[in-house]
Amino acid sequence: MPQSATATAEKSAATPKPKPRKVPRIVILGGGTVGLYTARRLKKRLGNREAAIVVVDPRPYMTYAPFLPEAAAGSIDPRNVVAPHRRALKGIDVLQGKVSEIHHAERRVQITPEEGEPYWITYDHLVVGLGSVARTLPIPGLAEEAIGFKNVEEAIAVRNHVLNRIEIASSTWDPELRRRMLTFVFVGGGFAGIEALAELEDIARYNVSHYRQIEQDELRFVLVEGSPRILPEVSEELGGYTLEQLRKRNIEIHLSTFLNSCVDGHVVLSNRVEFDAETIVWTAGVKANPVLQQSDLPLDQMGRLICNAYLQVTEADGTVVPDAYGAGDCAAVPDLYNPGKFCPPNAQHALREGNHLGDNLARVLRSAELTEYKHKNIGAVASLGMYKGVAQMFGRIKVRGFLAWVLHRTYHVFAMPTVNRKLRIMAGWTGSVLLRREVVPLGTLHDPRAEFRAAAVPAKPRVVQPPADDPAITKKPARKTAG
Ligand SMILES: Cc1cc2nc3c(=O)[nH]c(=O)nc-3n(C[C@H](O)[C@H](O)[C@H](O)COP(=O)(O)OP(=O)(O)OC[C@H]3O[C@@H](n4cnc5c(N)ncnc54)[C@H](O)[C@@H]3O)c2cc1C
Repeated sequence: MPQSATATAEKSAATPKPKPRKVPRIVILGGGTVGLYTARRLKKRLGNREAAIVVVDPRPYMTYAPFLPEAAAGSIDPRNVVAPHRRALKGIDVLQGKVSEIHHAERRVQITPEEGEPYWITYDHLVVGLGSVARTLPIPGLAEEAIGFKNVEEAIAVRNHVLNRIEIASSTWDPELRRRMLTFVFVGGGFAGIEALAELEDIARYNVSHYRQIEQDELRFVLVEGSPRILPEVSEELGGYTLEQLRKRNIEIHLSTFLNSCVDGHVVLSNRVEFDAETIVWTAGVKANPVLQQSDLPLDQMGRLICNAYLQVTEADGTVVPDAYGAGDCAAVPDLYNPGKFCPPNAQHALREGNHLGDNLARVLRSAELTEYKHKNIGAVASLGMYKGVAQMFGRIKVRGFLAWVLHRTYHVFAMPTVNRKLRIMAGWTGSVLLRREVVPLGTLHDPRAEFRAAAVPAKPRVVQPPADDPAITKKPARKTAG
């Protein structure tokens, strides 16, 4: 039975309610895929007269993560895989800051801005689209040595790091150091990990072809995956094909293997393989944003918001929590096409859930009946470097190689928000086909003040060490005095 939010019993009658506003305020936590699409759909349906929409996010842009591997490979300018909020959310209030607490019973959230004191804002309806963070394990050395691949900052850092290691390796004859610099480890064989690994290996090989001092076979790319297969999102056959392609590219693959430790870059795998590596990229899955633990909203065992198919937040017994909605990676939304299962954490669902949530909330404000979110997975597409890819569409159609790569680009460019970004991405692709990809390593980008700092520090007076036989400092042996 469709449920209207107004029909559900108020849970917290005793708690003070905010003063009535002229129009209801909808606060959207997170301006990522869910947040951006919900806000845009709401604006389209309601305009500014029926609701005041506020989006809260510490970043001033939404990141289209499926393009991060291509951004790292230099096929897309990293600035074009993000949609700036101020342009994509015209007419919508955007607050830059982190949500640090959610007191839904009092209809208020605390926001911690980058600078200044935390403050509270109240709302009438809450949308939670806070996404996920990397799921890590307490592995010795992981926090110090590894980097994630979840946002554009990390993708740029990994790219510059890889290209810079190649540059460093080219300037040393120390075989140990060269080996360490040219070894790149990726942990996690899901979509994000495989695409990141394949794209970076592709660009690294292309880059090395410009170096006379480095041979291709000095590059060592290693994949570590805990389960016996990769790409669980596609069929075993297609996963097997991908493995075969990666092996043909001399990528070393360790399946059913775990990273045991990586202290000081010394990698130890559970199959007793050990080596040194300067680059360890962690892409072994995600978990719901931990800030949800600082809320009074009901969470499941995995820390996700419990939601129904109307995208309303519910208690574990299914009772609707009034005025609270959730979607995307941070929410457990039932998958109506796979009874008993939840929608997987991917952009395909997040984007559609965002649009659906916008429609449903507009219905709530107009006291209309809500509709259930129902989406049949249309498939999965992955890019494995320039002109290479795998795709599985509608469950049965399997595509490989160049055609899959074209499908990947076509599908994602359509899903990328704003016409401006779509055009820029397509222009970038054309540029990189005609002029080749850019491989300049901008390693110093990550510490731009280093040179200035060194120049600004007052020079210490040069201390000249006098020669050891200088009579002024030569210590005379202590004369033994006769007793
Ligand atoms: C490398 C990579 C490749 C991927 N490839 C694919 C693919 O090919 N196909 C596919 O379908 N999916 C893919 N995904 C998954 C997909 O990107 C996510 O499932 C999707 O973005 C989830 O949307 P979301 O809105 O839930 O979260 P997000 O889009 O991550 O948005 C969450 C937002 O919340 C904000 N936020 C975080 N903490 C706070 C806070 N405390 N307060 C306020 N705001 C906060 C974040 O800044 C962010 O803007 C990929 C993911 C990655 C990392």
